[in-house]
Amino acid sequence: MRALLPSVFVAVTSLALTPAPADTPIRGFFPSSVQAQRELETRFKSIPDPARMREAMRRLSARPHHVGSPYDKENAEWILDQFKSYGWDAHIETFDVLFPTPVERVVELVSPTTYVAKLQETGLPGDPTSNQQAEQLPSYNAYSVDGDVTGPLVFVNYGIPADYEELERRGISVKGAIVIAKYGGSWRGIKPKVAAEHGAIGCLIYSDPRDDGYAGGDVFPAGPMRPAQGVQRGSVADMPTYPGDPLTPGVGATKDAKRLSVAQAPTITKIPVLPISYGDAQPLLSAIGGPLAPGSWRGGLPISYRLGAGPARVHLRVKSDWSIKPLYNIIARLPGTTEADQWIIRGNHHDAWVNGAQDPISGLVAELEEARALGSLYKQGWKPKRTIIYAAWDGEEPGLLGSTEWVEAHADELKAHAVAYLNSDTNERGYFNADGSHSLEKFINGVAMEVDDPESNVSSWRRVQAAQILNGSADDRREAREREDLRIGALGSGSDYSSFLDHLGVASLNLGYGGEDPGGIYHSIYDDFYWFMHFSDSSFVYGRALSQAMGIAVLRLANADILPFAFTNLAETIQTYVKQLQMLRDRRSEEITERNRQIEDGLYRLTSDPRDPVTAPQRKQPAPQLNFAPLLNAQDSLTHAASRYEKAYAKAVSEGRVANAKAVNERLVQAERALTSPEGLRNRPWYVHMLYAPGFYTGYGVKTIPGVREAIEQGQWSDVDREIARAAAAVEREATLVSALATTLGGP
Ligand SMILES: [Zn+2]
Repeated sequence: MRALLPSVFVAVTSLALTPAPADTPIRGFFPSSVQAQRELETRFKSIPDPARMREAMRRLSARPHHVGSPYDKENAEWILDQFKSYGWDAHIETFDVLFPTPVERVVELVSPTTYVAKLQETGLPGDPTSNQQAEQLPSYNAYSVDGDVTGPLVFVNYGIPADYEELERRGISVKGAIVIAKYGGSWRGIKPKVAAEHGAIGCLIYSDPRDDGYAGGDVFPAGPMRPAQGVQRGSVADMPTYPGDPLTPGVGATKDAKRLSVAQAPTITKIPVLPISYGDAQPLLSAIGGPLAPGSWRGGLPISYRLGAGPARVHLRVKSDWSIKPLYNIIARLPGTTEADQWIIRGNHHDAWVNGAQDPISGLVAELEEARALGSLYKQGWKPKRTIIYAAWDGEEPGLLGSTEWVEAHADELKAHAVAYLNSDTNERGYFNADGSHSLEKFINGVAMEVDDPESNVSSWRRVQAAQILNGSADDRREAREREDLRIGALGSGSDYSSFLDHLGVASLNLGYGGEDPGGIYHSIYDDFYWFMHFSDSSFVYGRALSQAMGIAVLRLANADILPFAFTNLAETIQTYVKQLQMLRDRRSEEITERNRQIEDGLYRLTSDPRDPVTAPQRKQPAPQLNFAPLLNAQDSLTHAASRYEKAYAKAVSEGRVANAKAVNERLVQAERALTSPEGLRNRPWYVHMLYAPGFYTGYGVKTIPGVREAIEQGQWSDVDREIARAAAAVEREATLVSALATTLGGP
């Protein structure tokens, strides 16, 4: 093995400064299986090759490859061929989805002066793929409704609900107006949704240079940041209601699927929306009159940011081709042996807005190298106990289309068989990041300890710990030093794990490295091979690290004697969430009481500047006391059950056997499912997980115990008791399952 691969071996030894001793325990493995597993992992780790990743990125990002484009299909076929050549049983699974592409786009200032927005990103002489204009999708927001509107312009900051409260206090209404919002502060689809709720007739979204332009460094091509004509494309479908094809909620978009009409689709925006560059935004913003924007709203342009409405009037026209387009998901399989009906699923999307070297190819090339490595072990005779399924999704960018339609089409099988879903998307230099199901927190900490960080030559885990100690709050610091496992974040939405976790309750993790490569090329024509080779992981050593981490995770899940879920971390995390909810209620209560008193005492009237008047905010209903007892009882049940399970697990491992491993593993597969509720979240039944969901008014950002948290945040006090009962019931179901597991494992 070593003799055959001298160059690779040298590279690997120079990285492997901290190899774990061969008998260091691995979560889920009996002592008798540990050594073979470690040897397998060592062989696996030596295979992923940065030079191949670089070549694959160059090939996959050579031309624009959005949904429905010729190169999207060519890439899909090439990826299929790769999987087959690695020894996988692979096929393309096609869906037919609504994917609008722009036909007409007009933004013009019609008074008091005139300006016609260019709406065109300019190609750069040194950057070869930036000039492929014929194949580039113009800058637009997918799933904007068609419209032709003219109205006064109002600057709404990030366009989130709190911004409209501020506008209202200044007597500024957006009724009948076109709003212009900055990117950031929320997921982009929230901006037209909230604008329409307030009566706006159109929405522009622009990238302010303070956020990802020159304020953060030189702009491309001199540096990595967004140039004046750079535009962020992106979907504005109402994904917090449901992601995927807007016409086929809840079912796969197969040829014969029953479809809504476009007019019926609830996730298409209510008003037309278009993204623009800061080059195009500046003439519009500088024509706005009215009061100065609050200090925190102002961006990095050399203008006075004013709110309006008017005198700037803008004409906005958007029209799309609403035809159905094909999606090509590549699905590849390595069959399991003794536990073949338990599936370990791993995916990354392959479609991009334009060339997409970073998003998504930086993650996809790592996935391909894992697949090659697993295939090579397989060819040499290794067989996984469980079935491994690798997916390269199409249509992630417009709205998680490929993964969502696949999950909906195979929902029953997945509910029965899926052990876990592992996702990646973009990858950069920096720190290992894991977010996901807290029943896998202990497991993924173990994985992070096995992978060396390419820059610091310590484990990826150790480097994250170092940063948390250095940069964290006093509490974070203490935890990072003393807690056995580093905490992982919860998942909201924003990539292909969403359907697995939120719609089916499949335990999921999203992994990637990042934090050292600032940039302003997201969803623009400048996210390409040239940019990546100048400003990101150009030696692909972090690509290799991602391959190694993912591969070890897959190998451990596929081969474990007892599936490596641990419920103590989950129980403890739920305790922190419940504590947060109690504090949130108390903080809201204090804020509302104080605010109402300030209003009653006339303080806003007394302090208002008559030349720049600001009125008092609206009175709010005082927060009632809430009964958290059902949730507190449920968390106690789970804490108790989890510690019983942990003892039973330790005993089983120390004895090196379980009488009924099959029954235990089958039940473990269902553990995340217990946290779902079939009727789903209020107002959005597609989302069934009671612990994690993207925020209804934040988009990608997660809301934990979302039913309760959002009812409190939105002041819908009469809903809270019911939501507490529903969340508590899910946690009690989990406790019952974990407790039964402890008994089956033979614990006390
Ligand atoms: Zn992506």
